[in-house]
Amino acid sequence: MENFNAANEIQDLQYFGEFGGVNPSISDSSTYTFLSAKTMFDTFEGNAEGCYLYSRHSTPMNLYLAEALAKMENTSGANVTASGMAAITTVLLQICKGGDHIISSRTIYGGTYAFLKNFLPAYNIQTSFLDIHNFNAIENAIQSNTKVIYCESVSNPLLEIADLRKLSKICKQYKIKLIVDNTFSPLSISPALLGADVVIHSLTKFINGSSDTVGGVYCGTQEFIDATKNVNTGASMLLGPTMDSLRSASILKNLRTLHIRIKQHSYNALYLAEKFEQDGLKVSYPGLTSHKNHELMTTMMHKDYGYGGILTIDVGTTDKANELMELMQTENLGYLAVSLGFYKTLFSCSGSSTSSEIPEEERATMGISDGLIRFSIGLDHDIERTYQRMKACMRTTGILQ
Ligand SMILES: *Cc1c(COP(=O)(O)O)cnc(C)c1O
Repeated sequence: MENFNAANEIQDLQYFGEFGGVNPSISDSSTYTFLSAKTMFDTFEGNAEGCYLYSRHSTPMNLYLAEALAKMENTSGANVTASGMAAITTVLLQICKGGDHIISSRTIYGGTYAFLKNFLPAYNIQTSFLDIHNFNAIENAIQSNTKVIYCESVSNPLLEIADLRKLSKICKQYKIKLIVDNTFSPLSISPALLGADVVIHSLTKFINGSSDTVGGVYCGTQEFIDATKNVNTGASMLLGPTMDSLRSASILKNLRTLHIRIKQHSYNALYLAEKFEQDGLKVSYPGLTSHKNHELMTTMMHKDYGYGGILTIDVGTTDKANELMELMQTENLGYLAVSLGFYKTLFSCSGSSTSSEIPEEERATMGISDGLIRFSIGLDHDIERTYQRMKACMRTTGILQ
C-alpha cells in the first residue's frame, strides 16, 4: 500500500486525440458502423474486443474515464454512470436478486439509505442497518442469503471511518462482497487495497469538483464490469444509467487536477477544524486527534492527501444553524447548498437536507443532531482570512462569545 499512489497511476496514462490533440477525441455518436455483419453479431455476443456497438454499452470517452478511475482505485476495471446513485443502484441490482440480504452501515448517504430501505424490499431484497464498528452484530446478522456488506469509507455526514481491513476479512470468511462508497475520500483512501470488492464514487463531488454535473463510477474486477454490461443480464446495459461522452470528457479533464485540489481542501479543512475546536466549538473532523476514528483513518490513508475537505460543526439548533449559514452566504464565505468538493465552501444542515430521508428518531440514534452543519471546505487561498471572517459570523449569531 505504501508504494501505491493513485495520482501517479492516473498521470502515467497517456491519451492522444484523433488529430494528435492533447486530449482524447470525443466520439459524438450513439451508434457505430460495422464493416461486416459477422463482427456485429460477435459484438452482441461479447466477443469482439475493441469494437463499439451502441453508446449505452460503451463509448471511447467513457472507457478513457473509466480506465483512469480504475487506475486510481487499483482495480482491473470500472464503468462510469450518469450519477453516483446510478452507480450504487446498478452495482446492488447486479449482485443482489430477490430473496437476497444486504448488511449496510446505518450511517450512509440519504439516497442510498432510501434505496435500501424503501425501494429494494418491493423486490424482496432486505437490508439490515447496523453500526459499522460493531463487528459482533455484523457477524450475527450474516445469513445464508447475505450477499453484500455496504458502507462508506468516510461516512456522510458523521465522518465515521469504516475499518475496511476488518470488514473485508469478515466478507472473505463468509464469501460476501464488500462494497465501499469512497466519495468523501478519493486519493486518500484506496478501498480496494484494503480489501473492498467494488469501489463506488459520486463523481459529482470532489472528482469532478466544479459542481456542473452529476456522475458516478463503480470500480471492480473487469469480469464484474463485463457482467454489468452483458446485453442479456447486465444491470448497466439493461437499466441504462449511461454517462454522456461530452460529460465524461469534461470530468476526465477535471480529474487531472484532483491531487492538487484534495491537498488544498484537506489543508484548509484541518486549519479551520483546529481553530474552531480551540475556540470551543463542537467540531468533528477525522484529522483532529479528538475524532474517535482519527487513528484508524491514519492507518488507512495515503498521507499526502490529508484527512479530506469535509468537517461538521454542531451549533445546537436548526434555527442557529440556519442563521449562521444565511449570514455566511451574505458575507460571501460560501454557499448554502448541498453537495461537496466545489472550489467554494458549501454548507448545509444535514438533518433537514441530505439526511432528511432518514427518519428523525434514527437520525437521533445515529448522532445527526438538528444543529449539525456539514461544511465542504473550499480551495480558499488565504484560510486564516477565511477563519477570521467565519469567526465574525459566529460571533454575530452568538454561537461564539
Ligand atoms: C452525493 C453522494 C452520492 C450520490 O451521488 P449523485 O451523484 O448525487 O447521484 C452517493 N454517496 C455519497 C457519499 C454522496 O455524497
